[in-house]
Amino acid sequence: LVVLGIETSCDDTAAAVVRSSGEILSQVVSSQADLLARYGGVAPKMAEEAHSRVIDQVIQEALDKANVSETDLSAVAVTIGPGLSLCLRVGVRKARRIASSFNLPMVGIHHMEAHALVARLIERQLRFPFMALLISGGHNLLILAQDLGQYIQLGTTIDDAIGEAYDKTAKWLGLDMRRSGGPAIEELAREGDAESIKFSIPMKQHKDCNFSYAGLKTQVRLAIESRKINAEIPISCASSQDRSSRADIAASFQRVAVLHLEERCERAIEWALNIEPSIKHLVVSGGVASNEYVRARLGHVVKKHSLQLVCPPPSLCTDNGVMVAWTGIEHFRMGRFDPPPPADEPEDLMYDLRPRWPLGEEYAEGRSEAR
Ligand code: ATP
Ligand code: FE
Repeated sequence: LVVLGIETSCDDTAAAVVRSSGEILSQVVSSQADLLARYGGVAPKMAEEAHSRVIDQVIQEALDKANVSETDLSAVAVTIGPGLSLCLRVGVRKARRIASSFNLPMVGIHHMEAHALVARLIERQLRFPFMALLISGGHNLLILAQDLGQYIQLGTTIDDAIGEAYDKTAKWLGLDMRRSGGPAIEELAREGDAESIKFSIPMKQHKDCNFSYAGLKTQVRLAIESRKINAEIPISCASSQDRSSRADIAASFQRVAVLHLEERCERAIEWALNIEPSIKHLVVSGGVASNEYVRARLGHVVKKHSLQLVCPPPSLCTDNGVMVAWTGIEHFRMGRFDPPPPADEPEDLMYDLRPRWPLGEEYAEGRSEAR
């Protein structure tokens, strides 16, 4: 099988061509980082326009680099949720046009399932059941993957995701926002003293696997204010004392943000092993999983439980088309796909988009155990 994957759920326009053998034939990402830096966040209408401007080119480039044409494809996979519906629509419309023109089956993909399943492309020994911690800009999920399409949600965030906390901290510290905040904080934190500020670890009193990052964000903001750090002064222009104070905040924030992940993973591993004692792996994926400190700390956690950590390479952790194509292959192989759309489909058709789309059922026993 050769599958084209298309991803437009948030601020990256991505496409890739992947073979069912796991060979990545091409991977193209066009990011809206410049727009984000200028406007300080994702504005749906602007993001939609940016996707529309580049989508044709991104897909053509993916096909060219893979040295295939549409007629060589077995199917088209496209993210249908969760995400911004205006943005999802751009990818889905394009996917449907290709599928109807070339009579190709279509696979609608869950963005977070794709973040998790791409781990099976890079680690061929990774079999169900396994656990996954999915950490990105909009999600903070702990799941037990029992089988393809069969997930139990052990924990989620009750407010913000960790990536959002990285991004805000970076903004308040005056870091270069032309790329996302996460890598900038990771880099600056290397210069800082992670023990210098004792932020409190979120949700200590809640004996469950849920997350919260809003409170930590507030603690960070207060620390920045009390040290009179001025985000208007870019870090590159800061005095050496100012710089080291910012680095201390970055390092202290990162330590606690990741400690929160570690604590929740510890508990989730216990829960998951109760349900599925044969689990061998914890997958960590999503943009924040490209962070080396995160990987190292979670590496220690899994070791204690004799599990193995599976982390995709950074380019497959952040949003990409490969994960969509691969998840398409997984579903297609199991006969889960839609027939090619009709050629005379109206332009203003309401597509089956799922902007809000939970991944799996909530783990009910977790709630009673948490009491
Ligand atoms: P979602 O997957 O929830 O829809 P998204 O698709 O916008 O969100 P991803 O591309 O999966 O997000 O991840 C982007 C997030 O990952 C951003 O918040 C970014 O700051 C964060 N991130 C990227 N690299 C790193 C890093 N090295 N350290 C920490 N965070 C990082
Ligand atoms: Fe994502």
